[in-house]
Amino acid sequence: MPSARARRATMPESRALRTDVLILGGGIAGLWTLTLLRERGIDAWLLDTALPGGVQTLASQGIIHGGAKYALGGQLTASARAIAGMPALWRARLAGDGAPDLSALRVLASHQYLWSTHALGSRLAGFFAEKLMRERMEAVDTPPAGLDAPEFVGQIYRLDEPVLDVPHLQRLLLAANRGRVIAPLRLDALDAGARQLHGAWRGERLRIDYERLVLAAGAGNGPLRERLGLPPRMQRRPLHMVMARGRLPALHAHCLGAGANPRLTITSYPLSDGRMLWYLGGQLAEDGVGREPSRQRAVARETLAELLPWIAQRELQWASWAVDRAEIENHGRRPERPALIDDGVVLTLWPTKLAFAPLLAAQVAGRLAAAIPARAGEPFQAPAPPCAPPPWERVKWHPTPR
Ligand SMILES: Cc1cc2nc3c(=O)[nH]c(=O)nc-3n(C[C@H](O)[C@H](O)[C@H](O)COP(=O)(O)OP(=O)(O)OC[C@H]3O[C@@H](n4cnc5c(N)ncnc54)[C@H](O)[C@@H]3O)c2cc1C
Repeated sequence: MPSARARRATMPESRALRTDVLILGGGIAGLWTLTLLRERGIDAWLLDTALPGGVQTLASQGIIHGGAKYALGGQLTASARAIAGMPALWRARLAGDGAPDLSALRVLASHQYLWSTHALGSRLAGFFAEKLMRERMEAVDTPPAGLDAPEFVGQIYRLDEPVLDVPHLQRLLLAANRGRVIAPLRLDALDAGARQLHGAWRGERLRIDYERLVLAAGAGNGPLRERLGLPPRMQRRPLHMVMARGRLPALHAHCLGAGANPRLTITSYPLSDGRMLWYLGGQLAEDGVGREPSRQRAVARETLAELLPWIAQRELQWASWAVDRAEIENHGRRPERPALIDDGVVLTLWPTKLAFAPLLAAQVAGRLAAAIPARAGEPFQAPAPPCAPPPWERVKWHPTPR
């Protein structure tokens, strides 16, 4: 057994690396920003303390909102206006127009639906009167699968909001940035004054010098900002999502309730074994915070039995997933827009929505391109890390109680 002194003598020195822009966090905000910086010829790397792919990103429903959800209170809110252009921007990337090229991305649904079990009534009159929303929402006569039961009574609208395969999106972005992503990293020290990060990767100590640091670490941003001596400026808004899997139709829809939030939002994910996964959010996930998982699963079954009584539940399996939305502080309310805080050397990003990530990343790339000259830089010679698994591959499944 070598002595401690001998062990110290044989310990490798930190490997010294340098990059112009160092991004922390491999969710949608970090990966999209990395892609755009590299498109502009800027030397940039991304580090994640876990497997990249994101925490909120992989837990998201993948809906590219166009604002309908934020106008359900009957008014066209600032949120609805801000997000209205996002489906068109994403559709351009899906058509291969602009970076990143997402023409290979699997789209789960080109549109989603909004349904109401009663007449939508006067509170949506103003909403429909707005040209912005009228163009994005259309009453349908032929119901989609899942709402096509003879018992269905209500109104159905088609929304101009695609639903994306988010795990596939993250895998594509990772593949496009091979040699530029280091994960999982042990983060030991971070200094914005000296512009240095110290950490370890695969047992090797690293020292990375950078010019600019981009914090895209979701819920990790608050603690990182504190570590750098900056005020955290972060809020968390928890959700308790529910999943059901089995023989289910592919339905992507919001059920309109009495409030300004959809009562239930269903997205569907085809699993590799042929089963369909329903991912359930909306008010169910907001109200379910603090509920025991077994209770939350039971409430989900009751909600489905009430809203979609023709869906057979007997052979389904159930799971739930608690996750926080991490955002810029806004008195606990949803921020209207994506957030970019510029503290000089350090930029902090919270996209607020997956849908907003391209907008936010373009702002960051524009700002940094004006400050940092393009140069090729060295890729990191390391195998590409795998993408983190989505929640449904990490939960324990439970049968419907008999
Ligand atoms: C349940 C749920 C459903 C949602 N559905 C939708 C939707 O349908 N449509 C929509 O537009 N938006 C949706 N959102 C919002 C959207 O998911 C988020 O706004 C977006 O994914 C945030 O991405 P991000 O990259 O900022 O963070 P994250 O995806 O959380 O990624 C942060 C990354 O940072 C890493 N990290 C953490 N700490 C550190 C550190 N110290 N150093 C380095 N790396 C670190 C983490 O490992 C992680 O990979 C949803 C959110 C939730 C929670």
